[in-house]
Amino acid sequence: MSLTVLPHRSGPREVIAPSAAVLSRFEVPGPRYTSYPTADRFVEAFGADAYGEALRERAAAVGARQAPLSVYVHVPFCESLCYYCACNKIITRHRERAVEYLDHLERELALQSAQLGYGAPVSQLHLGGGTPTFLDDAGLARLMAALRGAFSFAPDGEYAIEVDPRTVDAARLAHLAALGFNRLSFGVQDFDPAVQKAVHRLQPAQQVFDLVGHARALGFASINTDLIYGLPLQTVASFDRTLAQVCELRPDRIALYAYAHLPERFKPQRRIATNDLPEGIAKVEMLARSIAALTAAGYVYIGMDHFALPDDPLAVAKRQGRLHRSFQGYSPQPDGDILALGVSAIGRIGATYSQNAKTLAEYYDLLGQGRLPVVRGLALSREDVLRRATIMALMCQGRLDFEAIGLAHLTDARRHFAAELAALEPLQAQGLVQLTDQAIEVTPTGWFFVRAIAMVFDRYLQADRNRTRFSRIV
Ligand code: SF4
Repeated sequence: MSLTVLPHRSGPREVIAPSAAVLSRFEVPGPRYTSYPTADRFVEAFGADAYGEALRERAAAVGARQAPLSVYVHVPFCESLCYYCACNKIITRHRERAVEYLDHLERELALQSAQLGYGAPVSQLHLGGGTPTFLDDAGLARLMAALRGAFSFAPDGEYAIEVDPRTVDAARLAHLAALGFNRLSFGVQDFDPAVQKAVHRLQPAQQVFDLVGHARALGFASINTDLIYGLPLQTVASFDRTLAQVCELRPDRIALYAYAHLPERFKPQRRIATNDLPEGIAKVEMLARSIAALTAAGYVYIGMDHFALPDDPLAVAKRQGRLHRSFQGYSPQPDGDILALGVSAIGRIGATYSQNAKTLAEYYDLLGQGRLPVVRGLALSREDVLRRATIMALMCQGRLDFEAIGLAHLTDARRHFAAELAALEPLQAQGLVQLTDQAIEVTPTGWFFVRAIAMVFDRYLQADRNRTRFSRIV
């Protein structure tokens, strides 16, 4: 195993960037665990009635029993198609479609508020898509006014919006600041013009540098950029150049995703020539060099796909053991409920998950009938809740304390997870975890493969594997 020890320190231990060889051994495909159970386990038996009940239960809870509340709003429209896209979006140049969508969002908000009550305190808002900035200034103002009418936003909360750099200028950023947004997430993906052309997303680097400059001058508290490695025409050298530009840009947070080429599932990807894609080995090299470059530039590796500057609340929360994980990835905000609005949006209320209709036609139709547009979801069992807490403890705090989790969930955790502890032994031998009588500890190397560690506790995944193994045997 060859590991590079970098000079930068994050928290109490050295950051150890794994080599490409180590990454290719442990970087397994698997869920990102923005929820547990994962969204592919949701069922249609959980619908609008069950969701309404969860909202009413939340409303009836008082004081400390009421979990903190976040709000997520999905805006599905984009003006042009990026060929790598696997999101739920609608490509259109018809801006007037946003007005019809806002009408329905307001209807949904009224239906949800009727169950939840008005004025619930909210300290986190995320506008995602699609492209939220597809909405014009008046549309965004209308949406924010509707949300402010339904919730009570905390003055020191995190209010974030995903921004397509091609849809904003300095004046629009000023408008976002005036509406109360204090966090921006720019979709960058790659600065190389040839790569941008190959994925049909042309946005000159200078445009992003200018926008980030304006955003800083306007006082936005945090700026995130998304990057993707594994895109067509990317090479290890070209991605090194993009990384150097990103380090110069110095966003507070960086999300680095792997491109998964699944043209049979995602139609836009059929426009990408398979021959243009970097080979697997080059892709792993890009990941290894990204981790090394970003940590050497002073970024703290948060976990999974996320990096943050040491004084960003995300890095502070990691140092203090306060990280959480939700549908938008890691968050420094307290763990809690997520009220989701919009087509295909996924929410979490109490021990339930819910998802809205995935097509605009069905979403509009259900709202037209005066019904909540929830079409699937899940009521978690006690076992699911225990495993969710276990997976989140490992992925966010890097430690599972047997006594603490046992007390919280009324079980003998060591006995309960006997099979999982046995399954972790090979990972211990490879240096990813440390097992003691008191706890499971993720090692500094293990942080880079925390998904593989979490997967051991995913009983749905393990059941699938056993079924496949069984069907192969018979
Ligand atoms: S990547 Fe983003 S901007 Fe591009 S088509 Fe997909 S959702 Fe729209």
